[in-house]
Amino acid sequence: MVLIYSEPSAKWRCVFRECKALCCSGGKEITAGDIKRIAAATGLSPDEFAELEDDKGLFRLRSVDGACLFLRSDSSCKLHGTGAKPIFCRMYPFKFDGIIYADEVVLKVRAFKECPGFGRGEKINEQFEARIEELGNQFVKEIKDYLKAKREGKTPEEIFK
Ligand code: SF4
Ligand code: SF4
Repeated sequence: MVLIYSEPSAKWRCVFRECKALCCSGGKEITAGDIKRIAAATGLSPDEFAELEDDKGLFRLRSVDGACLFLRSDSSCKLHGTGAKPIFCRMYPFKFDGIIYADEVVLKVRAFKECPGFGRGEKINEQFEARIEELGNQFVKEIKDYLKAKREGKTPEEIFK
């Protein structure tokens, strides 16, 4: 389940060169599925790009000088176009706002208020919000899949293969 907190009437367009990719700070939340996709696309081993301390299925991208290690000096993303961009990086301008582990795993997502892209571009419509929800549900599924695999006795290394 995904809870989305947003401004329903806001317009948005990503102006990453203007803001110098403000939201691409290090420590971006990723799933085991993200790790598998990035490893396959880049040839890197998971520990080269991710913090692998297991926080209930939640992992984080490594950072360099406070920025994501996949951020280029021109503010573009090295993973763009590879099909391996992390789920949360495809959910901009919404950001991770926590997970509730109850009978059901609930993901909280919030609009990134500091984003200078708000007020620009197209209106955030139902289709856009449906896409955010779809990505959020994929994130939740990948968290649940990881936790299930662990309960079945698999090691993180086996799960990331
Ligand atoms: S989503 Fe907003 S803060 Fe992030 S790079 Fe785009 S314009 Fe900048
Ligand atoms: S993976 Fe790309 S989009 Fe995501 S935080 Fe890093 S540089 Fe930004």
